[in-house]
Amino acid sequence: MLNYKFRLYPTKEQELVLEQTLDGCRWVYNYFFDKNMSKEDMQFTLVELKEQHPWLRKYYHSKMLQMVTHQVAAARKASKDKLLSYRKNEDFNAFTYNQSGFKIEEDGKLYLSKIGSIRIVLHRKPVNVKQVTICRKNSKWYAVAACQLLRRMYSTLIKYRKPVGIDVGITKFCHDSDNHVEDNPQLLTKMLRPLRKAHRRVSRRQTGSSNREKARHMLARLYERIHNKRRDFLHKLSAYYASRYDLIFLEGLKVANLTRNHRLARKILDASWSAFKNMLQYKANRVVEVEPAYSSVDCSRCGHPVPKSLVVRTHVCTKCRAVLDREYNATINILQRGLESLIMLLLLLPVERREVTPVEIQHESVKQEEEEAIGQVR
Ligand SMILES: [Zn+2]
Repeated sequence: MLNYKFRLYPTKEQELVLEQTLDGCRWVYNYFFDKNMSKEDMQFTLVELKEQHPWLRKYYHSKMLQMVTHQVAAARKASKDKLLSYRKNEDFNAFTYNQSGFKIEEDGKLYLSKIGSIRIVLHRKPVNVKQVTICRKNSKWYAVAACQLLRRMYSTLIKYRKPVGIDVGITKFCHDSDNHVEDNPQLLTKMLRPLRKAHRRVSRRQTGSSNREKARHMLARLYERIHNKRRDFLHKLSAYYASRYDLIFLEGLKVANLTRNHRLARKILDASWSAFKNMLQYKANRVVEVEPAYSSVDCSRCGHPVPKSLVVRTHVCTKCRAVLDREYNATINILQRGLESLIMLLLLLPVERREVTPVEIQHESVKQEEEEAIGQVR
C-alpha cells in the first residue's frame, strides 16, 4: 500500500458538512472509547445504535462509521491497554472511507458519499485506490488515498550493478561510498528566530481571545512549513539514491545512543533518519541494514582499527597510511560489510541451492534474490 496525500478545497458549505461528519464520527468514537468491546462487538452494537439514532444512518456513510470502530481498536492497541480518553473536537481530525463511498472524478473532484464532490488537486494520478481518509490539519483539508500496489515483480533480470553504502550523521545529513555528501538542511535552526517570535506572540495574547487564536494559527503554519520542507528534502534525497543505485546498504541506527539526548533538534534528526530509511525502503530496489559495529574505527583499506574521537574528522591509518575523510571511510566499511553479509548468506546455503540458474529461481523467495545479488556483485 502506498499513501498519497492530496489537498482538498471544499466550499464553505462543504467545509461545514465535513466538520459535521467529523462530529458524527467523533460521537461514535466517544460512545465506544471506554467500553471494553472487541471490534466485532462494536460493529454489532453500531447496528443497534443506528436503530436508536436514525440520524446516524441518514447523514453518515455506513462503512465510514464502521471504520471508527477500527479506529477505536487501533487506538486501544497503540495505547497498550491504557484507558483511552474522550476526544474533543480539536483532537479528532480524520474519517475514512474504505472500499466504497468515494470516487475520484474526471474533472478534478473527489466524490464522497453523503458529502458531495469536493475540489481536489491531483498532483499525480492515484491508481487502485482502496481507501480514502479525509483529514483536517490547521483548518486545511486533505485526502489521503491508499493505493494498493501490484506486488513488485522481483525479476531475476534485475542486475545489482550499483551498490552504495550510506552513513547518516549530524552536521552532514548523509555521506555515501561514492563520496557524495548531503548537508543537513538545518531547517529548524534557520527558523528558530521566527518561531520564538511566534511563540512569544501567542503567550502575550489574552487566553481565549480571537487574537490569540490567530497567533496560534500562525505558529502552527510555521511548524507546518518546516515540516513540509523537511519532507520535501527527504523525498528528494531518497529518490536520488533510489534512482541511482539498486542495492543500498544503510548502517543500522544506534537508537539507544541517540535517544539519550532529549533536545528537540536531536529528536527531529532521529525522526528524519528513520523517515529517510522508510522512504528508501519503499522506493529503492533493495535496502539492507548493516550492523553498525566499528564502521568508523576500522580502516576501509586494510581493516586495521584506528580508534578516534568524534572530533577527529579525518581517518589516517597507522598501518597502510591511507588518508580519508572520516565518514567516507565509514561508508566504504558499510558497503563492504553489506556485501560480505550477503556473501555469508550465500555460503550458508547448501551447495545444491547455490547453483540454480537465474531462470529457475524466478518467482522464488527473497533469500534467493540475495544469492543472485551476490553473484552479480561479485
Ligand atoms: Zn589501513
